[in-house]
Amino acid sequence: MKGLRRNEDAMKDKAGIKNYFCFMQLSVWERDSFFEEQDVIIIGSGLVGLWSAFELKQKQPGLKISILERGLIPTGASTRNAGFACFGSPSELLHDRTLLGESKMWDIVEMRYRGMQKMKNVLKDDFIDLQITGGYEVYNTEYANWNELRDGIDGLNKELKKITGSDECFTWADDKLKEFGFSGFDSMIENKLEGYLHSGKLVQALLKKVQTMGVQVFTGVEVKQWQTISGKVKIDTNVGIAFNAEQMLICTNALTAALVPELNIVPARGQIVLTSPIPNLKMKGAFHYDEGFYYFRNLGDRILLGGARNKAFEAEQTSEMITSDVIQQHLENFIAQHLLPREKFTIEQRWSGIMGFTDNKEPMVKKLNNNVGVAIACNGMGVALSPIIAEKVCEMML
Ligand SMILES: Cc1cc2nc3c(=O)[nH]c(=O)nc-3n(C[C@H](O)[C@H](O)[C@H](O)COP(=O)(O)OP(=O)(O)OC[C@H]3O[C@@H](n4cnc5c(N)ncnc54)[C@H](O)[C@@H]3O)c2cc1C
Repeated sequence: MKGLRRNEDAMKDKAGIKNYFCFMQLSVWERDSFFEEQDVIIIGSGLVGLWSAFELKQKQPGLKISILERGLIPTGASTRNAGFACFGSPSELLHDRTLLGESKMWDIVEMRYRGMQKMKNVLKDDFIDLQITGGYEVYNTEYANWNELRDGIDGLNKELKKITGSDECFTWADDKLKEFGFSGFDSMIENKLEGYLHSGKLVQALLKKVQTMGVQVFTGVEVKQWQTISGKVKIDTNVGIAFNAEQMLICTNALTAALVPELNIVPARGQIVLTSPIPNLKMKGAFHYDEGFYYFRNLGDRILLGGARNKAFEAEQTSEMITSDVIQQHLENFIAQHLLPREKFTIEQRWSGIMGFTDNKEPMVKKLNNNVGVAIACNGMGVALSPIIAEKVCEMML
C-alpha cells in the first residue's frame, strides 16, 4: 500500500478541491494500459505538441506516445490566435533581417512556407476553412522604414522566388485600399500566397488525426515537475499520478518558465476583438500593420482584429489569459479610425492568448539532456511554422 500513496499537495486544485483520482489506487489494468511507461510523453497539446506527435508517429508508427495537456482543451495560443496562414509581411521581414541577419530570416520564412504546404497536404480532407484569400500589409507615412521598404521590395521578391517559385510575391496594391473601405493608410502590399483558416477546426483536426494514429491525449493534466532518473523521465502532475517515459518533449510555449526557467521564454499576451456582422463588409483577406503588431481579417461579414501589444509592452508580458481595458480600447479605436470609419459596429467577442518569445525571436528545438527535449517559441507566427518545427523534433529525438 505504501507505494500507492500520493503527494497530498498535488491532490488539490487551485480552489482546494480534492481530485478523486488522487485518492484511489490504480488497477493493474490501468497501470498496464493507460498509464504504462511511454516511449515519448509530450507536454502541451498546442500546434507544436500535436504536429510533433503526428510526425513522430509517421516516422515510427510503433512508438507509444502520450500527450499531457493542462487545459480541458489546448489552452495557450493555438486555439486563441487570429488564424492567419502566413509566412511573413514585408515590414516583419525587414525587422527580422535586422534582428537575426539575412540568412536566418530567410530560413524561417522558408520553414513557414513549407509548413503551409504541408498543412494543406496533411489536412486536405479536413475542414479547417483554409482560404488563400491574399495577405496584405498596410502602411502610412509614419512607418519608420518606409524608404527601405519601397526600395527593397524587388530584392525581397527575388529571394522569395527561390522559396515560393512565384515571380512577384509582394505586389503594390494601393488601389485596393479604397475598395476595402479603409481610412488613414497610404499604401498597401499584397501577397497572393497567404490567407487564413479556422484555428479551432485546425487543432481539432490534428487532435483527431493523432488519436487515430494511436496517441493518447490526457486533458486536465498539468505537469508540475519532472526529473530524469536512470535514463527515464518521471513526470509529476496535478492529478497525483506520476507518468514515466523514455523521452519527454516540452511544448509548453509561453508557460515553459514554470518547467524550465533557465530557457528564459518570455510570455507575451495577444488580445483580440471580434465585431458584430457588418452589412456589405468590403474587406476580405488577412492584413498586417506596424511590423505585425496589428493584424486583422474578415471572419465572414465580421472583422477580427488583434494586437496593440506595443501600446503597453511590459504589462502584456504576462501569461494571465484575460483582456485589459487599455489594449481593448486601442483595438476599438483602431477599427473606428481605420477599418470601419463610416459604419456602426459593436464588439461582440473579446479574448486573449499567450505567445512565447525567445530573446532572439528564433524558434527553439533542443535537448536539455539525453531524454528531454524542448520545442517552443514559434514566437508570434506559429501556425505555418509548427509542422516544420515537428520535423526538427523528429531529427532530434529519433
Ligand atoms: C492572440 C494571438 C494571435 C496569433 N495569431 C497568429 C496567426 O494569426 N497566425 C500565426 O501563424 N500565429 C499566430 N499566433 C501565434 C501562434 O498561435 C503560436 O505561435 C502557436 O499557436 C504556438 O503553438 P504552441 O503549440 O507552441 O503553443 P500553445 O498553443 O500555447 O500550446 C502550449 C500548450 O501547452 C499547455 N501547457 C502549458 N504548460 C503546461 C503544463 N505544465 N502541463 C500541461 N500542459 C501545459 C497549454 O495549455 C497549451 O495548450 C498568435 C498567437 C496569439 C496569442
